[in-house]
Order: sequence, then structure tokens, then C-alpha cells
Amino acid sequence: MRITRDVYLVGDGGRGLSHDLDCCIYVVDCGGSYVLIDSGVGLDNAQIVNNIKSDAIPIDKIKYLIVTHSHSDHACGARYFQENFQIEIIVPTKEAEMLSSGTDKELGLDMARGPIYPPDYKYTHCKPDKVVSDGEELKMGDKVFKFIQVPGHSQGIVCVYLRNERILFSSDVVFHGGTIGLGNWDGCELSEYRKNIGKLSGLGVEKLFPGHYLFVLRDGQRHLDIAINNLKNPWVPPAWLHRHPHF
Ligand SMILES: [Zn+2]
Repeated sequence: MRITRDVYLVGDGGRGLSHDLDCCIYVVDCGGSYVLIDSGVGLDNAQIVNNIKSDAIPIDKIKYLIVTHSHSDHACGARYFQENFQIEIIVPTKEAEMLSSGTDKELGLDMARGPIYPPDYKYTHCKPDKVVSDGEELKMGDKVFKFIQVPGHSQGIVCVYLRNERILFSSDVVFHGGTIGLGNWDGCELSEYRKNIGKLSGLGVEKLFPGHYLFVLRDGQRHLDIAINNLKNPWVPPAWLHRHPHF
């Protein structure tokens, strides 16, 4: 589903576009070559491929998959895309180790299996092709992807910023309305959120594409600023309530 001139939404459980447990999965058109952002939970990869095809995106022109962090709903489809389409996997530092060999506890999966994931759900590990660190940039066709690492939701999670287009893919760091992805699993730290959220200030973001729930096409910075301000207060800031499909 094309959502701006250069961005497509090709998976999202919340909207029924793909498996119920999938995060929002985006494709960026870089002028004939493409980048996939996040891969979904890996339980119905074929549906994502169908969505990509019905948007007339040539899948052999997708060069990279950026996995924003190693949680199952973003990362467990990665190996499928790597093996079947020779798409290279890009992952931020700290998440790379998790993606290739994290334990269920380190991945927060011991706690999420049952309430969120099926009781027999198994993590699909994958060896990244490229590891990126905070502030690094990737030039691809007519786009420049900047990796802004904002630990808190997980240890190495990145937001991906297209400066020229003023588009931010905020993953599970900040959602619509400025709620944050604060949870009770291993690797999630409120103090890390507090320390790092300032990296998202003053970016002038227009279009904000989070990892779940609503996206916004105008004045996305306003939503980021709410999160930044909430993290200056003495109270625990509002976090996104995960409405998973079995409720
Ligand atoms: Zn997550």
C-alpha cells in the first residue's frame, strides 16, 4: 500500500495487512532500488511478498533490509528474506548479537511467549550482513538513511531518518501521540530512554512512521517532542498499550 511518493506499507498486523503479530513493515523507493524496513514475525512471509508484488515493487531490486531491533515481531522474518531474495540484512550494534544468537530471555521472548506470541513460538536467528552504529549513514540510490540509536525499548534499537525527505521511521521508540515503547522485559530501561531520547529533538520531522499503530504525514516532530517532554517529568511516561490480537 503506497502511503507517500516513496514509501509503501507492505505489512502490518494491526491493519490486517499481514500476520496479526507483524509490526509495520515499510519499503522505501530509492529511485529504482529499494530498502525494506523491518521484516515482521516470520509466521506468514508469503503474505508480505504478495503485498510487495501487488504494489508492483520488483523484489529483486530490494537490496537491504534494515532490522531496527531484534524483537520477534520486527526481526524473525529476516532470515527468510536473506535466504530467498539475497537481501542484505543491516542491524544496529547490540541488536546484531541478539539477532544472531540472543537467548529467549535476552530477547524478552520468555516473558512475551504466551501473552503475545503463541506458546510454541520459536525465535528465528539470522546472521546480519552489515552492522551499523549510532550516527552512521547509508547512501542508497537517491536517498540517505541515517541511523539514530535510541536505546530504551531495547539495547540498540535505531530510528532511521531520511533527512532530505524529513521522514523518520521511529520503530518502537516513539509512537503516535508521543507514547513510548516502555515495557517490563529484559533490555528495556527507562533510564536509557531518558538518556537517549534527546537525539530525536530538533530534527524537523514531517512524516513519522512508527513500528506499530498510526503513522502521521504532517508535523511528526510534534509527536516526538511530546515523548521528549514526558521523559523530563518525574512520573513514568505514558507507554503504548499493546493491544494484541487475542484480547
Ligand atoms: Zn520491540
